Amino acid sequence: MNRNIHTFIGCDDEYSDSKIVIFGAPFDGTTSYRPGTRFAPSHIRNESYGIETYSPYLGLDLEDYRIFDGGDLELSFGNTEKALNSIEKYTDRLLNDNKIPFMIGGEHLVTLGAVRACSRYYDNMHIVHFDAHPDLRDEYLGEKFSHATVIRRCWDIVGDGRIFQFGIRSGDRNELEWGKKHVNTNLFDLSGIEDLLESLIDKPVYLTIDLDVIDPSEFPGTGTPEAGGVRFIDLLKALNRLSELNIVALDMVELSPPYDPSGISTSLSCKLIRELLLMISDKNKR
Ligand code: MN
Ligand code: MN
Repeated sequence: MNRNIHTFIGCDDEYSDSKIVIFGAPFDGTTSYRPGTRFAPSHIRNESYGIETYSPYLGLDLEDYRIFDGGDLELSFGNTEKALNSIEKYTDRLLNDNKIPFMIGGEHLVTLGAVRACSRYYDNMHIVHFDAHPDLRDEYLGEKFSHATVIRRCWDIVGDGRIFQFGIRSGDRNELEWGKKHVNTNLFDLSGIEDLLESLIDKPVYLTIDLDVIDPSEFPGTGTPEAGGVRFIDLLKALNRLSELNIVALDMVELSPPYDPSGISTSLSCKLIRELLLMISDKNKR
């Protein structure tokens, strides 16, 4: 008899045996346009049973690796700082136990909690960021902490030249101008990935994927869709190259199930999570 407890498919191993720990951060308290990302982690877990554990892209199977699903954090709504603290604390514990945290949002602000914890463990940490939006505003609607300011708050921690953005195709003039001086922004597509591999080899990397980087024709289920995005298969190829780097933690954010009535965006998310789990598990086995 097995306990009937929901995990992401193929991630039903024990904590002590697992190098990667996947967990949900169901927070959407600062979402500016269309909320709903708080429902993403549980939807992803449910819908993951619609995909295979085997990846034909990689020739690898989740069943052959040990991965722990920690479930969802209980985050306070209406108190952003408290929610970020909970994320930071949980991430801290995982790092202390020598795990690779893989957080599923939630809105993009959740990244800040994890980056705060990681920056204490890893000197010289770099951030690789996929998104339609730079998220570099200093404040948004009077708020310092928002999914539109999250990468700026990460910059407060890591500083100049440590953030690399891809797929950016929206933003206000000021934040894009500011970005030119302080971060590396690759507009519109994923070219520039190969150069990144050389400059970041052996450096600790935090990987953050805002799913709205993908074109809305393939990924409509998000709060701020932005035409002209990258294709799923190209993102997959780019991530496969990046998986050669020393990825110490990662997240995937901004799936909004209320805007995904057909389920295609959720199933894309599940597939991307499977591929990332396999890429990183395999790298850490070698
Ligand atoms: Mn975005
Ligand atoms: Mn974002």
